[in-house]
Amino acid sequence: MSTLDADQTLNQNKDSAWRYFSCPIANDKITTKCNFCGKVSKRGIFHAKQYLAACSKNVTHCACVPEQVKEEILDYMQKKKHEKEDKNLASKDEYDSFGIGEGDDLEMLSNKK
Ligand SMILES: [Zn+2]
Repeated sequence: MSTLDADQTLNQNKDSAWRYFSCPIANDKITTKCNFCGKVSKRGIFHAKQYLAACSKNVTHCACVPEQVKEEILDYMQKKKHEKEDKNLASKDEYDSFGIGEGDDLEMLSNKK
């Protein structure tokens, strides 16, 4: 149980969206802090991307995100979706490593009911 190991794992699994978020609580990957407005969310990086990209009506949108970043995230999410479809067919293991924030988000959705 060393912090260093945990950080390395976190880095390996890092979503590119983490460039726009910081992680205010060590080892808590579902807590994200927006680098643009400082808003803290506890719903995972997938939700955080929706927040930046403003692509979901169920998600609060960032008021401070630059248009360029918004487009980048949207583009990234679409690419990743395609990648995931491919990986899903090819290898379950890789699919799992790609699914980090998504899993959290699905959990949230099922908890809501
Ligand atoms: Zn924000």
